[in-house]
Amino acid sequence: MSEQLKKSNSVETKDVRNTASFIYTKACLPLVAIILMSIAWIYIYPAEVSVPPALMLALIAICTLLFANLSHYKRQANTVQNSNQRLSLVLNNIADTVITIDIHGQIKYANPAIKKLCGYHPCDLIGQSFTQLIPDHLVEKHNAGFLQLTKRSLMTGQTQHISTQAKQKTGRLIDVELSYQETHFQGERVFIGILKDISEQKNNEQAEAERRKLSLAVHNSPSGVMITDSQGIIEYANPKLLKMTGYNISEVIGKNPRLFSAGEKQQADYQQMWSTLLSGNSWYDEFKNKRKDGSHYWVIASIAPMYDNQGTLTHFVSVQEDITSIKQANQAMADAKELAESALKARSEFLSNMNHELRTPLNAIIGFAQLLESDPEMPLNSEQTEYTEQIMRSGHHLLELINEVLDLAKTEAGQYQLTPVNTNALSITKESIAMVQYLAERNSVQIKVKNPEFKIPLVYTDPGKLKQIIINLLSNAIKYNKSDGLVSIDILDSGQGNVRICVQDTGIGIPETLREQVFQPFNRLNAENSHIEGTGIGLALCKNLIELMDGKIGFNSIEGEGSTFWIELPQAKG
Ligand code: ADP
Repeated sequence: MSEQLKKSNSVETKDVRNTASFIYTKACLPLVAIILMSIAWIYIYPAEVSVPPALMLALIAICTLLFANLSHYKRQANTVQNSNQRLSLVLNNIADTVITIDIHGQIKYANPAIKKLCGYHPCDLIGQSFTQLIPDHLVEKHNAGFLQLTKRSLMTGQTQHISTQAKQKTGRLIDVELSYQETHFQGERVFIGILKDISEQKNNEQAEAERRKLSLAVHNSPSGVMITDSQGIIEYANPKLLKMTGYNISEVIGKNPRLFSAGEKQQADYQQMWSTLLSGNSWYDEFKNKRKDGSHYWVIASIAPMYDNQGTLTHFVSVQEDITSIKQANQAMADAKELAESALKARSEFLSNMNHELRTPLNAIIGFAQLLESDPEMPLNSEQTEYTEQIMRSGHHLLELINEVLDLAKTEAGQYQLTPVNTNALSITKESIAMVQYLAERNSVQIKVKNPEFKIPLVYTDPGKLKQIIINLLSNAIKYNKSDGLVSIDILDSGQGNVRICVQDTGIGIPETLREQVFQPFNRLNAENSHIEGTGIGLALCKNLIELMDGKIGFNSIEGEGSTFWIELPQAKG
């Protein structure tokens, strides 16, 4: 107990005790003597007593009363002394820190508990400013608050509580709860504060808040979460897992996760899983599970063992993601692939059959017609010759059509064989022009190469297929041209490692509304209503071929003025 308190207590106690003893010793003995002498006087000299006996008796009674009061006064003094000793005992031994400060903020008293709370001996603090116990960042705030307190009039009997921090001697901060009251002591206005260490309570609160946060996260997790004990018995399942399984919580708690098994896994799989988990590792796997209603669902689950602070295995936690829709999509894709593969196989078979079944008889028809026409031993009359030529024309047309359809089907089926080599695009173009020259003459269209001498890089392509494409573009440029029209060919290095071949005509052009359909197979963009022959396959085939050769095809057109179709092919390397 501090000297200050001792002093103040002892002063008060002494005052009472001294007064009592003084009165007791100085007044009691004469009083007793007066009483005894009065009694003796009455007894020994009863005849000579001039004082009436009643007065004498009253005197004795007053003296006895005074004596009794004095004894009571002494007992009270002893009680005050005992209570002060008890108070000191309490203050010295309570766990909470009691501190008294005056109106200037000076510490007047601190009980020994301050040592445990802040590390100071009470004597070190007496006379010091209370700010010594306040964290630096709170000093300003506390000073302002204290100033407010001292400015207003005294309010006794009202306890205020603040949750704050105190600074220890080492500078470390601790969470405290401060309860304070104002009072008057020995004529001075003082503040009595009780400081309680609440750091453990704060830590517990923080731990509890943390625990609540984690528990909420698990509860609201978009993945299914299940916790089992070390024997694999379910102790917890979050709402997502219950939704996935169709069970309610009371139906799963206490059960084994086998409840969800669709029975797909082998015993060996489970054994491997358990040995992995029991060796302290996590296990990831896909499980085919069964809902309460018997329907199946797929999850990808990660299971991990959980240990307590002593390293004892206590639980397993399993986080599950429902992958049923992914599984179904994969299955649908696999089915579609299988279907496509079988369709492709059927198509290949159909193509090879068609190749044989159509071309063989057609070649025979054309061949026999040629024989008929050219047999010198059986010359045909003019009517027969005309019929035979008709057979051959139609046969050739049909053969061309069949060839194109088969080519188109083959390119679409990816069965087209290309033999790319370094190729001179200008030579191929010239050869193609020669092939369509008869058509140009028949349609009175002139063909012109814009820069026949221009040196252009070689292209890496299949020369036969390139020729087929250029012939197709030239034929169209002639067919859909005007009489006396012009077809110009331009071959240029288009940059980015490509060579571009442009076929420009002065023909009918393509209406803007139909441009999207130009490369659609069998679409003649209304040309079927004209006298111009065609099948609607040529450009679709060109597009497929050029793309197989890593090239591009495109066009520009102005209706009534003409079109420019172009292809681009990669330059030969090295
Ligand atoms: P087709 O055998 O009918 O010529 P294509 O596939 O070669 O088939 O061409 C498709 C359609 O595109 C043609 O029917 C025609 O309407 C249009 N077309 C193609 N080339 C030209 C062109 N140079 N000028 C105008 N229209 C064209």
